[in-house]
Amino acid sequence: MLGGMSWESTAQYYRLANELVRARLGGLHSANLLLASLDFADIESLQMHGEWEEAGRLLAQSARELEAGGAEVFVLCTNTMHNVADQIQAALTIPLLHIADVTARAVMAAGLTTVALLGTNFTMEQDFYRERLAQHGLTVITPPPDDRAEVHRIIYDELCRGDIEDLSRQIYRNIITRLSHVGAQGVILGCTEIELLISQADSPIRVFPTTRLHVEAAVNFSLGLELCP
Ligand code: GLU
Repeated sequence: MLGGMSWESTAQYYRLANELVRARLGGLHSANLLLASLDFADIESLQMHGEWEEAGRLLAQSARELEAGGAEVFVLCTNTMHNVADQIQAALTIPLLHIADVTARAVMAAGLTTVALLGTNFTMEQDFYRERLAQHGLTVITPPPDDRAEVHRIIYDELCRGDIEDLSRQIYRNIITRLSHVGAQGVILGCTEIELLISQADSPIRVFPTTRLHVEAAVNFSLGLELCP
């Protein structure tokens, strides 16, 4: 696992992986994993300056170190940085478990075809994520610009700093409700911190929490329960 983007959600990845392995195998079993964690201030600065290639180089370097340490599957603990997933995969021989593929499969398995996507502006506005979902046959709806700005602001100014606010929860609830009125059958929590704020109880439509789905797929793959990465 490569995390730290932010560590608030990476802590969830670690906890969920261990809880799932314990649930699957019982006893004192826990997740056998390698975790590398970056300084998010460095990554956020590269994002803001549009220096994706340099960010990809840094992430690929850490990914290679994890592979050299014996990792058999690579999990990038952030939706946004899947912007450079191809660059990372090209540096590895082990498979990168793409968070958008995992999520799309969950949406399709639930029988839904039109989903809303919440995440950083990079995730909601650039092609790398929406296109990947569309390749699975999904129609993707994003909020209008003002709502996107609020979703993005709350991620960086609050959630990535461990700040969980009732007011922000209400803002997200309202945005999800409006998205349901324009045809969204479900909503992808397409930023790994959003599930710290929002759960199924906050939404009139089905929520797809990417951190949980990503960890489940990684654990299933590692335990040989899921064949395709
Ligand atoms: N963890 C977030 C995500 O899933 C946002 C932080 C980042 O930009 O990596 O997109």
